[in-house]
Amino acid sequence: MDSRAAEREEMVRWQIEARGVKNPRVLQAMRSVPRHLFVPESYAREAYQDYPLPIGNGQTISQPYIVAVMTELLSPERGDLILEIGTGSGYQAAVLAACGAQVISIERIQAVARLAEENLKNAGIHNIQVLCMDGTAGYPDKAPYNGILITAAAPRVPAPLLEELADGGRLVAPVGDQHIQELIRVIRTGDEYHTERHGAVRFVPLIGMYGWKNEEW
Ligand code: SAM
Repeated sequence: MDSRAAEREEMVRWQIEARGVKNPRVLQAMRSVPRHLFVPESYAREAYQDYPLPIGNGQTISQPYIVAVMTELLSPERGDLILEIGTGSGYQAAVLAACGAQVISIERIQAVARLAEENLKNAGIHNIQVLCMDGTAGYPDKAPYNGILITAAAPRVPAPLLEELADGGRLVAPVGDQHIQELIRVIRTGDEYHTERHGAVRFVPLIGMYGWKNEEW
């Protein structure tokens, strides 16, 4: 147990469980990952508060509740192969790994990808592969994925990512414009894709070939 385990317990109880997240694997992961090691030193005291925080380069680490909701929607099983687009601080990737998944995470900004690698190392997590490139086309080399999680706002679900989903796979993403997005989950069954809507969220943009162009956002 580290010195901030009690804060994590409070965070899970009042911000996450109280708002309806139930998956025990997700709750346990949120209890175990030391979020304070994924925020800048100057925000360390606020690491367990109920809001997103800046991580530099105009990017953010998401609110704990949103990380929990997206993880629950993805429902990673032990041994699942999960692709995350938008590594940011590395925190969401660490939560997925704590659920027992094998995680590949893609970040487009090199300084941010390095920061994530450093954070993961400091947290003693060594089994996450961080790649630096435009993730909107996914990573076909390791496809198919049991889950794909996009943690930046997309204008639409990038078509290549749908192709990289395994049969039975889930894709979770915020889809919308710069003002607001809807959290959506797409479930693949054979060649059929079923889309569900899970409420409003607000993310920084997914910039890339199948995302926003810089000047559009
Ligand atoms: N999952 C992160 C975490 O746990 O800290 C938070 C992600 S942050 C809200 C969104 C991230 O997506 C930013 O770091 C941004 O640079 C990245 N991003 C935006 N477009 C991208 C793209 N096409 N490919 C990969 N990463 C992208």
